[in-house]
Amino acid sequence: MDQKTIAEFLRLTEGRRLKLDSRKIETGDVFIALKGTRYDGNDFVEDALNRGASLVVTSRNLSGDRVFTVAEPLQLLFCSARMVIRNSKMRHKIGITGSNGKTTTKELLHSTLSKIAPTFKTPGNLNTEIGIPISILENRDALLEAEYGAFELAADKKGDIRKLVELVEPDISILTNVGTAHLGKYNSPQELLEEKLSIFSALNNEGVAITNGDDLRIVKELKNASFRLLLFGEKNGQLVLANYRYIGNNTFVTLNFNNEERLLRLKNFWNKGQILDLMAVYLTLYSIGVDVPELLLVDSQLSFKDRFHVYDLAGIRVINDCYNSSIESVMVAIDALKRLRTGKKYAVVGSILEQGLFAKKTHLKLAELLKEFDAVVLYTRDRQIGYVTEALEVSFATDSIESIADWLLKHVEEGDLVYFKASRGVGLENVLKAFKEKIAKDG
Ligand code: ADP
Repeated sequence: MDQKTIAEFLRLTEGRRLKLDSRKIETGDVFIALKGTRYDGNDFVEDALNRGASLVVTSRNLSGDRVFTVAEPLQLLFCSARMVIRNSKMRHKIGITGSNGKTTTKELLHSTLSKIAPTFKTPGNLNTEIGIPISILENRDALLEAEYGAFELAADKKGDIRKLVELVEPDISILTNVGTAHLGKYNSPQELLEEKLSIFSALNNEGVAITNGDDLRIVKELKNASFRLLLFGEKNGQLVLANYRYIGNNTFVTLNFNNEERLLRLKNFWNKGQILDLMAVYLTLYSIGVDVPELLLVDSQLSFKDRFHVYDLAGIRVINDCYNSSIESVMVAIDALKRLRTGKKYAVVGSILEQGLFAKKTHLKLAELLKEFDAVVLYTRDRQIGYVTEALEVSFATDSIESIADWLLKHVEEGDLVYFKASRGVGLENVLKAFKEKIAKDG
């Protein structure tokens, strides 16, 4: 794409919000008309103009002083965002991907690096081919000021990570893990592995790759690479998780760093997956020259209330893990639950979505894991969770939110624990909300 078009687009969009949905346009916003699977944004150009867009970017040959015509608007976003990145003076750009823990790693990296110097992070979970360029373009002032950047990069489909890596050109790349989340979008686990490994595709000899040393498939692929490889894990790597435990409301972690013991206190309850994410951050700090990373990480706190959030509700210990679900995130949660001293352990569980042909296998595996609980309740709003009953006798199964809340109220006692877990799309938080309301009413 020619430089003049990019420069002109950057000039016209300086300080503006970029919107893909014409209904969300407020005066002064820029409308980008993209073709989706169901709608063609070009059909809404007029609507965007009527709503006060300062500019519309379209592939149609329309006239008007607020119209910017370009053959491929998506490509324009990409090339312009890359120009912004290339003009930035960041000392380190860190790309993060993985099946689980991307947002946790990014948020922690951002809060920690911000203690050293201005740090940019991709906002929310705008982490795809469209979200990343937009967040770069909308936040270019912050990017120009930043010395470090934490970029969460995710794949909607095959090839996405490679493209995002070409855009950001990270010099440090983190692959948190390669699990089974979104497996349904790929033809095989191998294809998913290859997609995730492309996070390392832009690293040169001076680049740093940080990943889980216990996943031998990853290590095998990287061991002859020319860049620096730093590994964390429970068994293998420079940084090994020796133990973690909960004391009061804190998590105490023992790490082995190059065979030296390192102790770390974290605020609130962290599960093993979240601690492994923290270890990726630890190695990132080390790779940029921080000698004693634990000094920057001590008393770190998770910034979320929906990912493994442990709290007490009228004497009942509740764990809200409704943000998303996958086999791996259930496994790390169960490992954590074993370390919590409580009465009976209940699980309220919904489907793990986006598993495609692997749905049955995934839910049978889930059933095995759920055997750790004293009682399991299924929220059957989606069909897939039904597979669990083929391998596990559950206590109650219904698609009625109210009925689950009533069932819990009747069975759960003070001192017990209730764990809520499902994929985002299931909306399991509504069940938790109903349970809370009933408890409040019950007095
Ligand atoms: P992502 O951004 O990749 O979706 P999040 O950071 O939002 O991941 O965490 C989502 C879920 O995954 C949470 O339930 C969290 O406890 C779990 N999790 C976080 N890191 C890991 C990890 N390294 N391994 C397994 N599960 C993890």
